[in-house]
Amino acid sequence: MRMIDFWVVRKGEDTQKVTPEIADAISEHPDNQKCMFCSDAHEIGGMIAFRWMPGASIYTARICANCMKHSDEKLAEMAQEKVFPDRVAEIEEHMRRYMKPDGFCLECGKPANQHHPVGPITVTISTPDEDEPPHEFCEWRCFAKWAAEQAGSTFVSEQS
Ligand SMILES: [Zn+2]
Ligand SMILES: [Zn+2]
Repeated sequence: MRMIDFWVVRKGEDTQKVTPEIADAISEHPDNQKCMFCSDAHEIGGMIAFRWMPGASIYTARICANCMKHSDEKLAEMAQEKVFPDRVAEIEEHMRRYMKPDGFCLECGKPANQHHPVGPITVTISTPDEDEPPHEFCEWRCFAKWAAEQAGSTFVSEQS
């Protein structure tokens, strides 16, 4: 699952294909010849640029011709795994628990029945296009916090 904003400029491609902001970041990349993924200094296959989310700082990296054989999507996943492993693990853990209630509060991660006789609070959300699994919370404050987050911004913002 891709979570980051990601751009690829393969060798021979024009930086016109990316936004001026990204093209600038790429052109300012220090001229070291190592591939970000394999640390190999052989033939350069192009540049990648990425950021955790819109507004976050932009990372740029050189990729060798060999690693560039991967698809854009695969490269994006490789970059996020390499640079943001903790955040990726956190979100994957969250998504896993989100999709499958495991008896722990979705918000605080403590047992959903820790405040017995209050809780577990089970919430089922109906949406027209998707069946969401029920979510469990230990108390109303946790539910309220979670609900506020849902109403505001989400973890991942899609940008194409
Ligand atoms: Zn490489
Ligand atoms: Zn809780």
